[in-house]
Amino acid sequence: MPELLVLGSGCGIPHKNYGPPCFILKNGEKTILIDIGYDSLQKILRNVDLNTIEDIFITHTHPDHFWGLVPLFFYLKCLDKNHRREVINVYGHKRVGFFLSFLNRFYKWFSKKPDVNFIDVNKNNRGNLKDTLYYTIKTKHSEDSLAFKFTMGDKVIIFTGDTEYSKKLANFCKDAYILVCDCSFVKGGYGHMDMDSFKRIFLKSGAEKIILVHNYRERGYKFALRKLKEELKESLIIGKDGLMLYF
Ligand SMILES: [Zn+2]
Ligand SMILES: [Zn+2]
Repeated sequence: MPELLVLGSGCGIPHKNYGPPCFILKNGEKTILIDIGYDSLQKILRNVDLNTIEDIFITHTHPDHFWGLVPLFFYLKCLDKNHRREVINVYGHKRVGFFLSFLNRFYKWFSKKPDVNFIDVNKNNRGNLKDTLYYTIKTKHSEDSLAFKFTMGDKVIIFTGDTEYSKKLANFCKDAYILVCDCSFVKGGYGHMDMDSFKRIFLKSGAEKIILVHNYRERGYKFALRKLKEELKESLIIGKDGLMLYF
C-alpha cells in the first residue's frame, strides 16, 4: 500500500513540528522524495532507508525547498559506507540542474558515487517511474516553480509546491486522492495561496483529502484554521511533521 510521509510541513520560517518542506512517497521498495528543505537530512535518516531513494523531485529553488540537497549528497557520497545505489535522479526546472553543475565544480567529492542524473521536468512534463507516472506544470510563484502529480495504481497524489491559485492549477489537481497544498496566509499575500484560495482549489479539484502545508502561522491563523476545519471537515488534514498516510 503506498504511503505518504510528511517530514517537513512548514515553510521558510521553521516552527516546532512544522519544518521546511520535505515529503516522502513510498510504494513497495521504491521511495520518492519531494522537496528537501535545509534541515531535512536528520529526519530522512530517522525514517527512510537511503538505499531505497532513487528519485528526488524539487518544486523550486527557494532554500526552504531544496538546500537540503547539499547535506544529503555529502552524506551519500562521503559518509554513508553502506550506500548501494549507483545513480540518484533529480527532477526539476533547469535551474536545479544549474545548481547541481555548480556543486560539481565547487566540491571535488561531488563526482563520487552515487552519480547524480538531472531530468528537466519543466521541458518534459511527464514520465514513468516503473509503476508510478508523474506529470508537472509550471506554477505562479517563482521563475522555476512547478507542481507535481503522481499516479500510483488508481490513486493520484499532487504536490502544489509554493504557488498562487490559478485555473490551470485547479484543473491539474482534478480528482486527486490527496492534494498536498500550499496555504501560506490567512488572507491575501503574493505568490502563495491563502485560506480562501486553498478552499477554492479543494472544491474545484474534487480531492478526497487536502493536506494544508507551508503555513506562516501569522496572527489569526488558529482561528482561521478552526473555521476551515468546520467547513472542510475530515477532508482537511492539517500538515504536521511526522504525519503518515496510507492510501
Ligand atoms: Zn516555500
Ligand atoms: Zn517558494
